[in-house]
Amino acid sequence: MIYDLHTHSNASDGILSPEALVSRAKLKGVTHLALTDHDTTEGLARARVVAENEGLTLINGIEISTQWLGRNIHVVGLNVVEASEDLQKLIELQRVTRIERAREIGRRLAKMGVPDAYEGAFKHAEGTNIGRPHFGRYLIETGHATTMNGAFKKYLGAGKAGDVKEIWPSIAEACAAILAAGGVPVLAHPMSYDLTITKLKTLVAHFKEVGGLAIEVLSGKQDVNATRTLCQIATQFELHGSCGSDFHVPDQPWQELGCFGPFPAPCQPVWQLWTH
Ligand code: AMP
Ligand code: MN
Ligand code: MN
Ligand code: MN
Repeated sequence: MIYDLHTHSNASDGILSPEALVSRAKLKGVTHLALTDHDTTEGLARARVVAENEGLTLINGIEISTQWLGRNIHVVGLNVVEASEDLQKLIELQRVTRIERAREIGRRLAKMGVPDAYEGAFKHAEGTNIGRPHFGRYLIETGHATTMNGAFKKYLGAGKAGDVKEIWPSIAEACAAILAAGGVPVLAHPMSYDLTITKLKTLVAHFKEVGGLAIEVLSGKQDVNATRTLCQIATQFELHGSCGSDFHVPDQPWQELGCFGPFPAPCQPVWQLWTH
């Protein structure tokens, strides 16, 4: 069995439709797939139809943007009841926040000599949840950047124009909505926040205190030392371990569906929380 519990479709900033994502997951040998689009559950119904046809287990997911000490922290919710009122209320708030943030990013980019970025990014978002990668695609299309990474380095990443602070809910609010929806709150890609191990443990302690139940011990292709450290942290804080590719775009070998190596043995797999 291969569990991939962190993936994106074009219901947020992924490239593939929910249908195409499920088909590709099946092709890559994934048996249990969570679709975890940013701040939306829009793609789930469409993904489910294909999952049922292809005999693959679909787990309802979401990835919620939060803030903690001035940092943008992502909390994945797994096995959520999509219709939950608390969850949908948070999703609606996030939708509005994303639009307001996008307008602000557009104003800031204009000051940096990039006109019409909001309109351009909006087109790339195609009516779904607008995010920084949509600005990245506009920056590439207009020749302001050559790669997505370059766009983040110059315009969108931490400390740059796209880094609009203090707009997201707290980790506690995200965990509460996921728990109210009967789901499991998972700290996403813990190694991506550029924290020292001491600070990372402070974050994990806080996450656990506000209801967090698991951390991603495998996120895409990562260093074996990182996996070992995360497994040790999960054990220390008595949290379950989750694994996912964080797939967005085909043909990026470091973020391919189902490709992140074996689940580290001493860790308790997160799916125990809903398969028991
Ligand atoms: P947002 O959800 O709008 O805050 O945008 C965050 C998303 O941008 C992440 O989920 C990634 O998909 C993408 N991202 C973040 N950093 C980078 C980077 N350095 N290069 C490419 N994509 C990135
Ligand atoms: Mn993303
Ligand atoms: Mn993320
Ligand atoms: Mn993600």
